[in-house]
Amino acid sequence: MPSAKLTFCGAARGVTGSCYHLALDGVELLVDCGIFQGAVGDDDADDVNRRPFPFDPARLAAVVLTHGHVDHCGRLPLLSRRSDGAFRGPVLGHPATLEIARIIMADSAKIAQHAHGDPLYDDGDVTDVARHFQPLKGYRDRRTVGPFTIELFDAGHILGSSSVRVSWRDPGAASGERAILFSGDLGVPDAPILRDPNRAWDPERHTVDWVVTESTYGDKLHPARAEARRTFREVVERATADGGKVLIPAFALGRTQDILYELDRMIEGGELRRIPVIIDGPLALSATQIYRRHPECYDADAMALLERGDHPLELDHLIEARDPKASRRAVAQHGPAIIVAGSGMCNGGRILHHLEEHLGDPRTDVLLVGYQAARTLGRALQDGAREVRLHRKSIDVRAKVTTISGFSAHGDRDALAAWHAALPRRDGATTFVTHGEERSSLPYAQLLGDRFGARTVVPSLYDTVELG
Ligand SMILES: [Zn+2]
Repeated sequence: MPSAKLTFCGAARGVTGSCYHLALDGVELLVDCGIFQGAVGDDDADDVNRRPFPFDPARLAAVVLTHGHVDHCGRLPLLSRRSDGAFRGPVLGHPATLEIARIIMADSAKIAQHAHGDPLYDDGDVTDVARHFQPLKGYRDRRTVGPFTIELFDAGHILGSSSVRVSWRDPGAASGERAILFSGDLGVPDAPILRDPNRAWDPERHTVDWVVTESTYGDKLHPARAEARRTFREVVERATADGGKVLIPAFALGRTQDILYELDRMIEGGELRRIPVIIDGPLALSATQIYRRHPECYDADAMALLERGDHPLELDHLIEARDPKASRRAVAQHGPAIIVAGSGMCNGGRILHHLEEHLGDPRTDVLLVGYQAARTLGRALQDGAREVRLHRKSIDVRAKVTTISGFSAHGDRDALAAWHAALPRRDGATTFVTHGEERSSLPYAQLLGDRFGARTVVPSLYDTVELG
């Protein structure tokens, strides 16, 4: 029996571009096909995205998506783009993941249209690849592709997010099979709306020989979620008392729904007076609609609310600003309001119009709930800039700026390690540590070895390993 081969085509010693290629008996399978962002080693991400894949897309039997973030699905349209030999197989995933991937890829094509240079792909390419979408029934549904059996498990990161177990028969193995589990991105236990990353493994059916695990925060510990919630509530309460605006720059997918959920809890619980909440942006609104359509992904708390007739993502005072006209109305609206808009780091998007209008007002509060990368406007505000440039204008910052950490969508070091410890692994199993900068992946690999005696490898981009 020939052994399977695994190639790391992304997110190796970096966090973006997730893409893993698995080959056995002439059958090829891809897990994720994400876009690279920022820098990849010494190279510009845009150049790396334009490189030919280290495999032939036409030979792929299927692609499986772990979730719909752009760094996991953003290169998918490139697979079916080549006229000489394009991918024609099914794209498999949780139904919610495929719905999210569709809007994320369309958004990515829209952004590319407005960027300089030749766009990576266009909306036609997105439509082409979306024709191949074949949702599984959900978690625990199994699908066979050639020699491979594929099964999804809840990863608790964003709606539909999955860990993917791939197994195949091997008469030479004591168990008669071999199996590898791709963690996907792993969420934070006890985060709102979603269930925790799966830990209910059945050793009879789920034991694996190899693990590919993310390590985004493999070297960090998050503040407790409860503490983040408390701070968030206090700041919003204080901020709305003076009748000013509360501006929350947030990622359209995941973070916006988290914030909406927390606000709904506070308003319904009487902790916050009823003031308008505005979600400004078509992507955030579409993502929220997909969240509303998939209550089967909710955790017990969110389900209990739903059963009581209080939809956790529907607020009485919610204003949905989808088109630019509605956005302009939202910017000009008088009186107190909480405004959630992208981008999460204020380096583009509709939040800029709100900042331009309200940063000069001392009654305004800016709440930073996500990571702010260097050289973004969000970071400048976080660092206490008193003057910023926006739309070629200089603006005095009189607004209060508050940072709340603890709303991460990725589990921290201890959450990752606890997830790994719960997973049934066969003797001699190897764990590949990916999806993390070296400063996270290397110490995390070390920790898995020291604490659990795990055999670990931190692969580099385009490394191929034999699974045998
Ligand atoms: Zn993700």
